[in-house]
Amino acid sequence: MNLVYIGLGANLNDPVAQLRGAITALQAHNEVSNVVVSPFYASKPMGPQDQPDYVNAVAAFTTALTPDATLDVLQQIELDYGRVRKDERWGPRTLDLDILLFNQEVVETARLTVPHYGMKVREFVIYPLFDIAPELVMPCGTRIADLKQHIPANGLVPFAY
Ligand code: ATP
Ligand code: CA
Ligand code: CA
Ligand code: CA
Repeated sequence: MNLVYIGLGANLNDPVAQLRGAITALQAHNEVSNVVVSPFYASKPMGPQDQPDYVNAVAAFTTALTPDATLDVLQQIELDYGRVRKDERWGPRTLDLDILLFNQEVVETARLTVPHYGMKVREFVIYPLFDIAPELVMPCGTRIADLKQHIPANGLVPFAY
């Protein structure tokens, strides 16, 4: 069984509802088990600032699927929640699901880079990841706890939901 960590983000169409919907869809999926979800955080957008704040969270789950098939599942959930792919990188979206870690595997394919290339410097990934996996170590040996200690919160705020 594989242990997968994913990042969730949304900033349109009731972001909290988008994240809850994605979590419900994951839990309901036949190939996904043991879903654990972090607290939700509000964060400022990366890149273009003329868009609403984001809501971010991290989830862990187990699956027998390959990394590629796991990405298929996540992209299908993104589509089910009405994400429209646009050209603008980091632009507003209803739902974004990224694979952060897949066991201790390093994956480099046309579709997939794991660990996620940006996770080490993104407070909206590292803070919620630390919440659910404070002992976690990346394949490169970097400890999530050390990353959290060195990345400023940068306006990230946890909130009750
Ligand atoms: P960023 O990758 O900087 O967080 P983004 O999430 O907005 O930006 P997307 O438009 O959602 O980028 O995804 C672009 C492509 O990234 C996807 O089509 C997918 O094939 C690829 N990709 C590479 N590595 C991953 C990963 N670890 N998780 C999800 N998608 C990935
Ligand atoms: Ca399930
Ligand atoms: Ca992303
Ligand atoms: Ca993405």
